Amino acid sequence: MPTPDAPEASPVPTSARRQSLVWHRTDLRLEDNAAVQEAAAHPNPRACGVVCLPTEPSSQLLPGIPRIGPRRMRFVLESVAALRTAWEARGSTLLVVRGRPEQMVPELAARLGVDRVVTAPCRAHDEVGEDERVAEGLRAVHVELVRRDETTLLAPEDLPFSLDALPRVFSDFRRAVEKALVLRSPTRAPAVFSPPDGALELAETWATPSLEELGLADPLDDPRSSFPFRGGRAEGLARLRCWLWDEDALARYKETRDGLAGTSFSSKLSPWLACGALSPREVVAEVRRYEAERVANESTYWLFFELLWRDYFHFWVRRWGARAFAGHGVLGRTSCGAQDGATFERWRRGETGEPFVDAGMRELAATGYLSNRLRQNVASWLARTAHVDWRWGAAWFESQLVDYDVGPNWGNWQYVAGVGNDPRNRTFDVRAQADRYDPDGAYRRLWGGA
Ligand SMILES: Cc1cc2nc3c(=O)[nH]c(=O)nc-3n(C[C@H](O)[C@H](O)[C@H](O)COP(=O)(O)OP(=O)(O)OC[C@H]3O[C@@H](n4cnc5c(N)ncnc54)[C@H](O)[C@@H]3O)c2cc1C
Repeated sequence: MPTPDAPEASPVPTSARRQSLVWHRTDLRLEDNAAVQEAAAHPNPRACGVVCLPTEPSSQLLPGIPRIGPRRMRFVLESVAALRTAWEARGSTLLVVRGRPEQMVPELAARLGVDRVVTAPCRAHDEVGEDERVAEGLRAVHVELVRRDETTLLAPEDLPFSLDALPRVFSDFRRAVEKALVLRSPTRAPAVFSPPDGALELAETWATPSLEELGLADPLDDPRSSFPFRGGRAEGLARLRCWLWDEDALARYKETRDGLAGTSFSSKLSPWLACGALSPREVVAEVRRYEAERVANESTYWLFFELLWRDYFHFWVRRWGARAFAGHGVLGRTSCGAQDGATFERWRRGETGEPFVDAGMRELAATGYLSNRLRQNVASWLARTAHVDWRWGAAWFESQLVDYDVGPNWGNWQYVAGVGNDPRNRTFDVRAQADRYDPDGAYRRLWGGA
């Protein structure tokens, strides 16, 4: 893909216009997006979007393994393509660039002559550093970086405690936020945007690349997958509609959620939530409508409860900064485990000899999805039974999961590995778990781990 010429930086008289570049990250939607609303807050808003696709795809912890594997990258590209169509339908466009945000965002901002970049920041440690570098690059071209929080169900400013005082245990967090619950309604997408001058021409240079152009092979679709869905907002909305209204599966969710295989036992909304094609507020608004029109019971509450877990880990990763990724974890309680490459290889290939674990690891590699029950078991086996460095497991999940989300992934890994926020500090007995959740061995047979 050609690289546009480097722009010339010139001071911009900010009173002269109000043009915005919306830098999308894990908010691949126009609806219920405070950054997009901010860009539209003008009588004649001129704005376009930008997405920076990564150019350094290798995992830091697992050299040679892509940080974003082909399944997630395909899902992201599909979501980006849908977002571009949504921008175009409103008269503007989305630039899909490859390169470091700290280089690309200031370059494009200067080239388009926008006076501000608006973004919904991901507040995990690396991304905070990235934000600072982008803000610095923007200052050099006299452009402001405006941040609007967007990833959680609960707005950070509505929490009944400061982030520093985030409860160490989820139950305390849940009780506190439920007592003082503020649930904001989702917002609509702006109807029209005029593009900044030159944006439409630039967009022709910066089209959504294919997987092949990113150096990744198109993954095979496995007919056994519990996640046979594709990326893009319309697909996410269709899934939400189908699971709630057509299948009525929400009404039974509390009983089915420990299922292992199939599309219905859980919502499967995580990949759209992780890339932001859907917002948690939109999901909860639909759950509330379902409760009003069909049934409100423990199951309908439980989906809300799980979304609070998601929020907890999003706030957790902000609260703990670099310690969310540190071997000794946020509590510094135990060792992070040994860097035992041979055991790790057997684990990731599904060749440990433990059938339940092997079935899970094969499913993950073949589909990019794994039920919560299996995620807990395979993670516990690696970190607590085989005593391998849990961060390698988290990095493998990061590469493989179609729904990888920084807070939920690293937070759950710390929790299961016993270095995070599990007050019970348990080890899973994977054989007892297999007997309980896969009593007839159907799941193990499905994935050839028996
Ligand atoms: C080791 C490990 C790693 C994980 N990594 C991720 C990850 O990278 N991304 C991710 O979204 N989830 C992760 N989870 C949490 C959970 O397994 C998935 O969110 C869930 O399986 C996704 O399927 P679903 O959408 O059908 O979930 P449902 O059961 O339908 O739940 C609804 C939503 O609630 C949220 N949720 C549910 N359980 C959890 C949880 N334990 N923690 C945080 N949020 C939750 C998700 O957004 C999910 O989409 C991980 C769990 C473990 C044990």
